[in-house]
This record gives sequence, C-alpha cells and structure tokens, in this order.
Amino acid sequence: MQYRVEGIVIRSMDYGEGNKIVTLLTSTHGKVGIIIRGAKKLKSRHGSLAHLFTHGEYLFFRNSGLGTLTHGEIIESHHVLREQLELVAYASYAAELTDRLLHEEEASGFIFEQLKACLTALSEGKDPDIIIQLYEMKMLQIAGYGPEFDACTVCDNAAGSMRLSARSGGVLCSRCTHRDPSSIPLSDSALKLLRVFRKMDLRRLGSIQVKDETKKQLKAVMRQLMDAHIGLPLKSRAFLDQLDKYAAAPPERGKPE
Ligand SMILES: [Zn+2]
Repeated sequence: MQYRVEGIVIRSMDYGEGNKIVTLLTSTHGKVGIIIRGAKKLKSRHGSLAHLFTHGEYLFFRNSGLGTLTHGEIIESHHVLREQLELVAYASYAAELTDRLLHEEEASGFIFEQLKACLTALSEGKDPDIIIQLYEMKMLQIAGYGPEFDACTVCDNAAGSMRLSARSGGVLCSRCTHRDPSSIPLSDSALKLLRVFRKMDLRRLGSIQVKDETKKQLKAVMRQLMDAHIGLPLKSRAFLDQLDKYAAAPPERGKPE
C-alpha cells in the first residue's frame, strides 16, 4: 500500500550497505519507520530526507512493518540544527523525548505541530532553554501529567508563596510544604511563567526574555517533573547536561561567581 505523509525525522540510523532507516513523526499516522535505500550514497536524491530533524513529505510503500521510501520532498531541512553543537543538543533531546514517549501509530497531530514549532523556534534563534522547557511541559500534558500551578494541590489555597512538588503533581502552599521535603522554591516570576507554559501552544511562542535566575529555577522544576513522571534515561539529556556544566564553568575561566 502506498502512503503519503508529512513527517519530521526523529531518528535516523544506518542500515546495511548505504541505506538508512528513519523514524518519522507524522501529522497523521503517528510514528512511522521507513527504509531509505541508498541514502548514504553521495549522489543519492534521497540522502537529505534521511537527516535528523528534516521536515518533509514522504511517499512510501508498505505492506507490514517498515515502509520503503519511493519519493520525498523537503519542506524544511533545519540544517542549522545539525551544524551548531548547542542546537544539535537541544533538538536531539526534543526528538529523542518524542520518540521514546510516543507509541507507534499513536494519534499525533498535536505533537507533530508542537515538535515542528519547537524545531522552528530553535532554528530561529529563540531562547533554547525556554523552548525546551515549554516542549517538556507539552509532553507532560500529553502523557497525562500536566501539573497544577494555580492553587495548592493539597488544600486548594491560591494565595501566598508556593513550592513545586512533582510528587504532588503541582504546587504546595506554605501550610502544606511539609508534605514534601523535596519540594523546590518558586519565585513569583517562575510561577507566573509556569502558568503561562501550562496554557501556551508552542506555535504561539514569541521572543521571550527570562532572567538567568528564573531560568535556573524553571530548569530545576522541569527536571523534577520529568524525572518523577516520565523517568526516561535519555542519552541526549546527558549530552545537554554536559554542555550545561561546560557553560557554567568553562575550563579556561572556571571561576565561580
Ligand atoms: Zn496547601
């Protein structure tokens, strides 16, 4: 049977002599695996369709299992995401997270749009930390773990300062924080942003300026939420962490602030 799908390459691996197997996140058929024959050959017409993060139209033939590409057109190559180390790290994380969270053939229209917007925002040079935190929030929501930020998850109190407790699935007010010793403090600006993230669609992300201190807090929050609810050991995240460490203390001038 012949299929025509719009998809984004979220995984790409070598297969046999000169071929590649890619996993596409499609807008209509969930995750789809296809073989791109000859993709590694220098003169291949289809080589660029096998690159990670490529967004394109893919025509393939499939009876069962893997499909075989017959034709394809690139819609957006996202080459900048494969060229800058920092962007490679962020985009790989988004792709791997999507691949691991989603089952084959799972309905994927919304996730497709979010990933597409995520990669586009990264290509456009918007703040990668904010983009990824927002993407993580969407993934949590899709997985059914959308956190509660509006009021205390125990007593529903919405006033005063709050702490984040992944275990409770959202925030705790000052009266209830004793219930979770691992809860994280939240500044007003971090809490405000988390509430925005909760409701925001990645397609609507403009350019947004966030103070480093707030970003650090958001990072800790998202990390705790992802660990508690998703808990996947992702290779790409270890890579991101390494880059982070390097940025915080580069070997040449590793002076603590
Ligand atoms: Zn409370």
